[in-house]
Amino acid sequence: MPEELNPFKIMQQQLEETADMMHLDSEAIAILKEPMQSVTVNIPVKMRDGKTKTFTGFRVLYNNARGPGKGGIRFHPEESIDTVKALAAWMTWKCSLANIPYGGAKGGVICDTKAMNEEELENLSRGYIRAVGKFIGPDIDVPAPDVYTTPQIMAWMMDEYSKMAGKNCFGVITGKPVEMWGSEGRGDATAMGGMYVLREAAKAQGLNLKNATVAIQGFGNAGNFAFQLSKKLFGCNVVAVSDSAGGVYNKQGLDYDKCIEAKQKTGSVQGYAKADKITNEELLELGVDVLIPAAIENQVTGSNADRINTKILLELANGPVTPQADKILAEKKILDLPDFLVNSGGVIVSYFEWVQNIGGYYWTADDVYKRLDTIMTRSFKDVVETQKAYAKKGAMNARTAAYVIAVDRVMKAMKYRGWY
Ligand code: GLU
Repeated sequence: MPEELNPFKIMQQQLEETADMMHLDSEAIAILKEPMQSVTVNIPVKMRDGKTKTFTGFRVLYNNARGPGKGGIRFHPEESIDTVKALAAWMTWKCSLANIPYGGAKGGVICDTKAMNEEELENLSRGYIRAVGKFIGPDIDVPAPDVYTTPQIMAWMMDEYSKMAGKNCFGVITGKPVEMWGSEGRGDATAMGGMYVLREAAKAQGLNLKNATVAIQGFGNAGNFAFQLSKKLFGCNVVAVSDSAGGVYNKQGLDYDKCIEAKQKTGSVQGYAKADKITNEELLELGVDVLIPAAIENQVTGSNADRINTKILLELANGPVTPQADKILAEKKILDLPDFLVNSGGVIVSYFEWVQNIGGYYWTADDVYKRLDTIMTRSFKDVVETQKAYAKKGAMNARTAAYVIAVDRVMKAMKYRGWY
């Protein structure tokens, strides 16, 4: 992977730029430039052919100055320790910006879930927890779902951890099925949080979202719900959507149910009949009002940023825009709303789930969405206020403003604790 696309190097660069701008204490930045703990495990799993296959997994606790580690587990064929480290750092900033009482963490396993059956997946999930069990816990580090991990996987993991502990530990992991003490509203929380940010940004920009054109890269948990919710809440016109096989485009708009049907029948949204087939790269370059990367990192880079043509870029994925692209987007005056603001709805409702598990008292979906809206709106306003406060010294993009807020809070916690 070229240096400029290494997510961990990107995170370190973003942090350094923030530190320079804020003249931050170099000893504190040295702590924040590396994870506090990084674990690699090898997990033997019995496969359906009777043979044992060994999978490599990671769990990184980036920083716990503000609370236990928090962050999802990815099951991805191209998972790497550097990606997990970067994502763990971004979780630290995400929880800090949302002002919820967590540090940041992340996990991952190198595997191809599409090539595995249910039993193999369960064995791998349980094996991962046995391997990292002593590094996690409701007040140590709390995992959750991420790319290619599901509520069912969270339930197996909670069960395995509980067996190890000899008691039910529902609060060890979030994103569980509601019937297994997951939270109402967790399923669509990432996209819902993104929609609250979109609403506020559109208001600030004077953009009417009714019939606004939207292109969404990705049809997993985030992209799928972003499609539904942008239509349902605002009447947006979703003109393009994609998955890992490619995308479809129709400037009249796409029908959500037919996209689901195409995905179920053919394995990809590309099976949708009444639309043109496009690539994932082409989707990003369509001229739309709102562009939502909702898949994986490094999608808008130095090589395609000048062809991005949108009013609002809503980063629902983690790390979809590189620092080189940031500069080009700023020159083009595109409002790029950063990942750890836009997609923080997932971890915020995870936090609600953890609170409910610890308290043993459960909230309605309505309660969850109201509280989520309050936090998302507050975070968006904090970012705008910070941009305004720095305006005299020159323009500051939303990502840097979000970094300023998040890093400042983590540094204060480290200072009070006497870490530097
Ligand atoms: N994986 C999600 C994220 O990247 C959610 C993390 C969580 O719920 O802890 O924000």
